[in-house]
Amino acid sequence: MQPAQILHPRPEGLYCPKADLYVDPTRPVARALITHGHSDHARAGHGAVLATAETLAIMGARIGPDFAGSTQSLRYGERVEIGGVTFSLHPAGHVLGSAQALAECGGTRVVVSGDYKRQPDPTCAPFEVVPCDVFITEATFALPVFTHPSAEHEVRKLLASVAMFPERAHVVGAYALGKAQRVMAELVRCGWDKPVYAHGALLEVTKLYQAHGVELGDIRPVETAPKSFYADAIVLGTPSALQTPWVRRFPDPVTCFASGWMRIRARARQRGVELPLVISDHADWCDLQRTIVDTGAGEIWITHGEADALAHWCEGEGLKAKALHLVGYGDEENEGAAA
Ligand SMILES: [Zn+2]
Ligand SMILES: [Zn+2]
Repeated sequence: MQPAQILHPRPEGLYCPKADLYVDPTRPVARALITHGHSDHARAGHGAVLATAETLAIMGARIGPDFAGSTQSLRYGERVEIGGVTFSLHPAGHVLGSAQALAECGGTRVVVSGDYKRQPDPTCAPFEVVPCDVFITEATFALPVFTHPSAEHEVRKLLASVAMFPERAHVVGAYALGKAQRVMAELVRCGWDKPVYAHGALLEVTKLYQAHGVELGDIRPVETAPKSFYADAIVLGTPSALQTPWVRRFPDPVTCFASGWMRIRARARQRGVELPLVISDHADWCDLQRTIVDTGAGEIWITHGEADALAHWCEGEGLKAKALHLVGYGDEENEGAAA
């Protein structure tokens, strides 16, 4: 079977005509399969939504309980047949509940990666290689400059700074779904046993992670207190909160930002980030290549990001490659960058 008969790009997203189903559609559709809860993938207003239970819970928490007409949850590896196509979800290692979608029909296997990473992350199931004929990948960090160090390395950098400046607060900008919780979990792993203070906008998703059994340590809301209360504290805020007077409530704050973009020094400077933390929930250049090779796919379709660079690399490896340039997918790690 031709892969395009199983899935092909449309303005609304990747479409499966046999099942009348879109993967991560950017407009309301009758039937959607959602890879994960980030807002550029998980939108409101679809008729029926198929996703992991965790992703459905995240969508309910962020969009509201009536985010879709009906929902169906799938466990990782569980198969469901729709219109003669068999769909299953497999861990993507990106955020809690994140999944790659495998669509199989007539012996042809097409995998939509959603967003993914290969680095260990204590807050979600590790990425699983799914052998396939066509691998549809993101390319957020598909340039050789992007190499992500381990999250532990970066968190130890943060702890060293806290030890060096005990009279200052460390205020870390981190995206509200996934990144903030990963930083919390990595702090626990690195032996930080004091409270971590979180901006109100981070609390709901953080509670949801904890309800799913993810160990995040002692998380407390930021409350009105004398500045000195937050000396030597670690505070987490959304990237956009860091651009507001909210940070002035902390003593001489060391502003930090956890993102793969922090590899680019100019980005950190532009945002006024004193301590850049290169922590990403996306695969870096090497891991994108490794993953493409691991899947054994002969054909690579690239949804968004540095698609041309990755397509060029694929062609050099003798793989068929196509940049889809799908519109509507942003990059959650870039949130607030415009401010
Ligand atoms: Zn994402
Ligand atoms: Zn995305």
